[in-house]
Amino acid sequence: MSAPEDAAARRAAPPVIAYPPETLPGPDLALYRAARAAAAKVAETVVPPRDARTFRVAAGQFFRITCSDGPQVGDLNLWAAQDLSERFFSGKTRALHGTHLDLGDRMWSCFPHLRPMATITEDTLGWYGYDADGAGVHDVIGTRCDPYTHRLLAGSDYDRCCHSNLTRALSAETGLPRAEAEAHVHDVLNVFMCTGFTRDSHRYFTKPSPVRPGDHIEAFAEIDLLGALSACPWGDCGTNSPQSATCHPLLVEVFAPAPGALDGWQPPAPNGYAGHHGA
Ligand SMILES: [Zn+2]
Repeated sequence: MSAPEDAAARRAAPPVIAYPPETLPGPDLALYRAARAAAAKVAETVVPPRDARTFRVAAGQFFRITCSDGPQVGDLNLWAAQDLSERFFSGKTRALHGTHLDLGDRMWSCFPHLRPMATITEDTLGWYGYDADGAGVHDVIGTRCDPYTHRLLAGSDYDRCCHSNLTRALSAETGLPRAEAEAHVHDVLNVFMCTGFTRDSHRYFTKPSPVRPGDHIEAFAEIDLLGALSACPWGDCGTNSPQSATCHPLLVEVFAPAPGALDGWQPPAPNGYAGHHGA
């Protein structure tokens, strides 16, 4: 179909930022930094390659995900610790903060809660920004690798996809049968993953992660959290075959601030919308 005569004029309309950042309630990063300065490590979990593990973080604590051994991407799920129906909302987080998360950005929970679950307080890959291909790190655009898409495209079954890893880990943590646990697994924060959309066709692409041993991302838990992290079978995601990928573990550490360090701070309340949805 040919373009209309005013096609150029229509395309020239300026973009409007859907959710201006200045309208979002921002975190008190100075308070969080001061609390973190005197925080003590209280737990750690090693996530084996091609597998997932769960971890718990109380509201007001910090969790750090570290690349411990070699370039490796992680797929992160978060739930409210006492209510699995409140979970990370990747799509709304993307709409509010952009395609990749950075310092001060927050991981928001699903409706009807829509409140910050965690706030990014440190990111040693913050220097990466957006490269010449438009790629950035820590995306909320990919969903997670899964055995259904693998079956669709490769015609074979593969059980070590992040979706299955997260399902097994949540099942082991909660005692839920795997089919029930699977229903709670959701779109992820792709930790350390380097991704973007091609300029011409806007197709989702990955690049080898720039993460190196010692790099980490850290977040402040705004509410009591149950987390699950999968060390993706695609390793650094520089290949599109899990069989040929080199995979490494990831380290999760939890830090608790000193008593009184967060005086005056309260976990965010669930969203205040009354829920009538009209007459
Ligand atoms: Zn994966």
